[in-house]
Amino acid sequence: VTAPVADEVLGRELRHVLRPDQVRLGAVDRVTYGYDATYRRGLPAAVVFPESTEDVSAVLRLASRLHVPVFPRGAGTGLSGGAVPMGGIALVLTRMRSISVEPEAMQLVAEAGATTADVQAAAAAHGLYYPPDPGSQHVATVGGNIAENAAGPHGLRYGATDRYVLGLTVVLPNGEVLETGGRTLKNATGYRLTQLFVGSEGTLGVITRARLRLVPKPPPDTATLLLGFAGLSELGRAVGQLARLSESLVSLELLDRHTIAAVAGRGPVPLPEGLAGVLLAELRGYKDVLPRLAQQTADLARAAGAVVVQVAVEREAQAHLWRMREEVAAAVARLKPTKISEDATVPLDELAGFLADLEAIRREYRVELVVFGHAGDGNVHPNILCREGDAEEMTRVEAAVAAIFQAALRRGGTLSGEHGIGLLKRDFLPHAVSPAALWTMRELKRLFDPQGILNPGKLLPSTGGEAP
Ligand SMILES: Cc1cc2nc3c(=O)[nH]c(=O)nc-3n(C[C@H](O)[C@H](O)[C@H](O)COP(=O)(O)OP(=O)(O)OC[C@H]3O[C@@H](n4cnc5c(N)ncnc54)[C@H](O)[C@@H]3O)c2cc1C
Repeated sequence: VTAPVADEVLGRELRHVLRPDQVRLGAVDRVTYGYDATYRRGLPAAVVFPESTEDVSAVLRLASRLHVPVFPRGAGTGLSGGAVPMGGIALVLTRMRSISVEPEAMQLVAEAGATTADVQAAAAAHGLYYPPDPGSQHVATVGGNIAENAAGPHGLRYGATDRYVLGLTVVLPNGEVLETGGRTLKNATGYRLTQLFVGSEGTLGVITRARLRLVPKPPPDTATLLLGFAGLSELGRAVGQLARLSESLVSLELLDRHTIAAVAGRGPVPLPEGLAGVLLAELRGYKDVLPRLAQQTADLARAAGAVVVQVAVEREAQAHLWRMREEVAAAVARLKPTKISEDATVPLDELAGFLADLEAIRREYRVELVVFGHAGDGNVHPNILCREGDAEEMTRVEAAVAAIFQAALRRGGTLSGEHGIGLLKRDFLPHAVSPAALWTMRELKRLFDPQGILNPGKLLPSTGGEAP
């Protein structure tokens, strides 16, 4: 969609439907909201800050009348280019952050701009727990989490965001307000419209409010194991064995040797030379049983080929081990200026083979590839560090990215476990879903957004999925 109205006209019209301080048209604001956490950038004509569902509805009615594209945005931490605007209006939801907890119904209602950490804290204040825990939780918004179906290390035990969304308030591209779901914990009444918006990446409607399910607080104690492997195939196979072990295993994170090397200068844990990778395993339970569970896990890991096993039960010792994982994003970002974060996910019994594929891709395309992620879900993050300005290197990087996707798909995997398709992966979508599935997605988009004004250019590929 190209805006048929001049930017000045758009600015003037926006100031009729919102207060002047909710509309920014200056170059600095437009550039600031032209990014997400990828290397892609765009430039909106206007940046707006709605404070209510009514504000969002007014902006979408206006955009619909003027045929102007609208790009919904939370905190802009997305890793697939989903919030990058291309002209039009950047619709920033971060002023909408109220949260109200209904503890007796084990749920809360959060506006879309509330951060994940604020939602977790609000739940905890009532002795309840909101499990989704993306690494960006202190900044990322609930709206962004829902739009991407985000997850985190504890996804192994608790699943992704979709499990916790009971209902939504969504503004459709024509400005109409749609309520989905409700306060019941079960709901088999008609199509699951709520779930349709989960993972829709801001292409079908703008989420303004979410009703989120809370669960009882998990047992208070944890133990952490650091497990080092000399070979990736042993490590990959151990993941499946450990994941089957017990409900007490709540996260199982992977760092390959290249990630360990990046973290080494900053990390607190000295590791022996020659490891292919490590797993960090977190067990949760009660003090009296945890040492036994930790011992069982350690024995199983040794039997599966772990050559380094460290068990931490004291809080400080555990925090020490987890710091290694927490340092990863910052440490790898320092290797080279451009970071391409992939998110391929494979079935657990294919993980060992996929890790071997990634090593082969690293060698074949001579790219600086580091691999870490939520191994217990088969969700790994192959990250390529490169220099965007180096055309020769970028050609190899693009080929390596395509090879990563092909390898994942060949193994029955998928393009993204949690970061979404956005701008970066959309042209690979036809390889990952059937023509009929792609056609269905296009039809849904047409139904909700016949003018194609909401987050155009995202998720759906430029070609493919034509009528069968
Ligand atoms: C350091 C770091 C660590 C990360 N770790 C994880 C992780 O562990 N797990 C994980 O899943 N992700 C992770 N991410 C990715 C990112 O944080 C998540 O995808 C997050 O859910 C994005 O939220 P956001 O508010 O920043 O959304 P944005 O980046 O602003 O937007 C993301 C997408 O959602 C759409 N959107 C945003 N708000 C709305 C709304 N209200 N209605 C409709 N559409 C909307 C946008 O249009 C866009 O398509 C990480 C990112 C970083 C930078």
